Amino acid sequence: MNEHFSDYCIIGAGMAGLSCASELARSGASVTVLDKGRGPGGRMAARRAEIGGQSVAFDHGAQYFTARDPAFQDAVAAWEATGAVARWPAAGDEAWVGVPGMNAPVKAMAKALDVRWGVRAERILRSGAGWLVETDGEAFTAARVLVAVPAEQAAVLLADAAPDLAALSGDVLSAPCWAVMAGFGERLPFAADTFRSDTAPVSWAARNSAKPGRNGAENWVVHASPARSREIIDLPKDAAAAALLADFFAATGVAPVAAMHLDAHRWLYAMPQAPIGARAGEGARYNAQAGIGIAGDYLHNPRVEGAWLSGRALAGLALAAG
Ligand SMILES: Cc1cc2nc3c(=O)[nH]c(=O)nc-3n(C[C@H](O)[C@H](O)[C@H](O)COP(=O)(O)OP(=O)(O)OC[C@H]3O[C@@H](n4cnc5c(N)ncnc54)[C@H](O)[C@@H]3O)c2cc1C
Repeated sequence: MNEHFSDYCIIGAGMAGLSCASELARSGASVTVLDKGRGPGGRMAARRAEIGGQSVAFDHGAQYFTARDPAFQDAVAAWEATGAVARWPAAGDEAWVGVPGMNAPVKAMAKALDVRWGVRAERILRSGAGWLVETDGEAFTAARVLVAVPAEQAAVLLADAAPDLAALSGDVLSAPCWAVMAGFGERLPFAADTFRSDTAPVSWAARNSAKPGRNGAENWVVHASPARSREIIDLPKDAAAAALLADFFAATGVAPVAAMHLDAHRWLYAMPQAPIGARAGEGARYNAQAGIGIAGDYLHNPRVEGAWLSGRALAGLALAAG
């Protein structure tokens, strides 16, 4: 038997994949999680930068999350008790953020699990009664395989192994988002720590340095609206960063100043536009006969909480199937 054989191989160590893995591991199952990223976060990523000799963590994906479901509230309370999350009233009464970066809860879950970072799953093939996951390195075998990646990527991965699940994922269209990370020498003359707009080009901006547990220079994260992101989707990142910083100054009325640090990240699949939660029924899909399933925000609600609930739902379906 292959040395990497496990009861479950989960592809994707974002909020959905890890909530699923935690639940399965709690039941005593052996679980291996693969993620192509170099570190924890997925769309709750944080990126470090040196600004004026200080190390700064930018949350360039999800900005904050809410917890309305009682089960997720319990998980959030447990993270709060260890200091991994804190409330951030600047974003609203119900807003929570990871501390010291948005990826802290994902990191905390990953620590207790067998997660292989920097491993990209490329193909899922039948192997006896189970599955073989081919990656850009070694292969992994498991009795069951669970895919917790953005919808468009799930559709590609599942095309041969589970065409029905691939078709479901393939129905989803996600909006892109260009995210800008900007550090400044002085506090910007903008009183609030957040800025939201329903009209392009900037949908959200936040004084990242004002989040709980952060330190370092004045720094902001700016998210372009879906329309603006599409308009400049193919710009090189330096050009996108410069264009969106100009948009930010125009939208907020802050007089333009030079940034000490300027970077951008393009999220191609930031937010599922028409989540299929209702059609998916339980917030996840599992083919018990084949031992293959899917989870992710697109199957529940395109939010951090929706991803966590979807992962848990998939674990429940898999455990119920035995
Ligand atoms: C810019 C932006 C702003 C957002 N703002 C908010 C917000 O304010 N509040 C909120 O609640 N939500 C927000 N969201 C949404 C939230 O981040 C997501 O709903 C949630 O994090 C999705 O979790 P997930 O586990 O479903 O997917 P992901 O976090 O995308 O995790 C999927 C993982 O799969 C990995 N992966 C993909 N393909 C492969 C492969 N072939 N092999 C191995 N690994 C693979 C990826 O590296 C990733 O780690 C935002 C998202 C973005 C991008």
